[in-house]
Amino acid sequence: MSKPLPNSIYARDVEYLLHAATNARKHEETGPIVIDRGEGIHVFDDQGNKYIEAMAGLWSVAVGFGEKRLADAAYQQMLKLPYYHSFSSKSNEPAILLAERLVNMSPDKLSKVFFTNSGSEANDTVVKMVWYFNNARGKPNKKTFLARVNGYHGITMASASLTGLPVNHRDFDLPILPVKHLTCPHFWRFGLPGETEAEFTDRLAAELEQTILDAGPDTIAAFIGEPLMGAGGVLPPPAGYWTKVQEICRKYDILIVADEVINGFGRLGTMFACEYYGIEPDMLVVSKQITSSYQPLAAILFSDEIFQGIADNTAKIGTFGHGFTAGAHPVATAVGLENLDIIEERGLVAHAAEMGEILQRELRSRFTDHPLVGEVRGVGLIGAVELSADKATKQRFDPPGKAGAYLFARGHEHGVIIRAIGDQIAFCPPLIITEPEIMDMLDRFALALDETW
Ligand code: PLP
Repeated sequence: MSKPLPNSIYARDVEYLLHAATNARKHEETGPIVIDRGEGIHVFDDQGNKYIEAMAGLWSVAVGFGEKRLADAAYQQMLKLPYYHSFSSKSNEPAILLAERLVNMSPDKLSKVFFTNSGSEANDTVVKMVWYFNNARGKPNKKTFLARVNGYHGITMASASLTGLPVNHRDFDLPILPVKHLTCPHFWRFGLPGETEAEFTDRLAAELEQTILDAGPDTIAAFIGEPLMGAGGVLPPPAGYWTKVQEICRKYDILIVADEVINGFGRLGTMFACEYYGIEPDMLVVSKQITSSYQPLAAILFSDEIFQGIADNTAKIGTFGHGFTAGAHPVATAVGLENLDIIEERGLVAHAAEMGEILQRELRSRFTDHPLVGEVRGVGLIGAVELSADKATKQRFDPPGKAGAYLFARGHEHGVIIRAIGDQIAFCPPLIITEPEIMDMLDRFALALDETW
């Protein structure tokens, strides 16, 4: 990419927009790639270049681009009722129907829904709900959250505090919450020399319990985690990890929050990752694939026990003083309902399981032995290839992220949009991807990889 021509759409982007997760000075030199339209697993830029969206946007577009049924659902709902709020007992039908549907399809324990517009707002809401609940049940000291290094829970003040990535804290004066970040459950990177996977799991469980005991169990409110970490690098936990985490949290009356903003709605080949790992959360956070991100929407599903505590308190103090103007939005929830219909009618969860096996097999067979690759990992239709300067010692590249950034750019040249998380390359294609499309995506990635270094 070269410096944008004066007055071009690219120059105007540089003039007026601050981009998310972007080096703003470098962006002035390169300008943006303007994505113009999408169809299936592909997007096209305004120059007509076609790319395979190997990341489904941002882990989002489950049913693919250009799905007319979702556009139609939004249009029809806009004509009927384009907006209403959920304050003071007001409601709307799509929000009610979607809440009912989410409860019916989710783990048994979860029985109520609160809607927000983004995953970050949802996790901020989780913090407030947990505090409100604990205050209501006479445990006001239970305030501290347990999260993990490399976990991602969003970028608003509370959710970014839960996030365990330095780039989201640095110079934002975060974290602001009482939060303790535990060891990242990624065996390949954080296992000690000579340690087995089972020993690694035991060490992390011991760390969790010791952290609780050191702080005092009456101060720890909740454990939040992505069942399979996404934005931190696609990091599946070691075997037995979630069983142990749950045992310990239950022992000390610590709520379990499963953040399935990426994992939810079929990504791992099960409707929710909680099924895949046998997690029984007290709260479940979903977003992204709930509407295939055609509309901004997130939801917190939570247990009856939490609802009863909150409801009792609203009776005592007069209200649940929390909510968003666009929460439970009728257009977003109507699109969510239609999106879940499509996922069900087309059997996309079973399809993701089937395609996921192919993706995982091909990633491993093609790239494990590549000289630049340290580890290949993933479950279902989410995977990663981690680049390493030295396979044997797992040494990182110097400077970290340079190889990933180069490969990311080479990918564009070869018509595939991947995501470089430092030197970890993520794949998270739309759930509708087919076997030939997986092959095409990986062929393009292989060309880019061979040109790196
Ligand atoms: N939680 C997880 C697991 C996520 O991956 C993300 C975003 O990627 C979020 C929360 C935040 O969601 P949003 O970007 O919609 O605020």
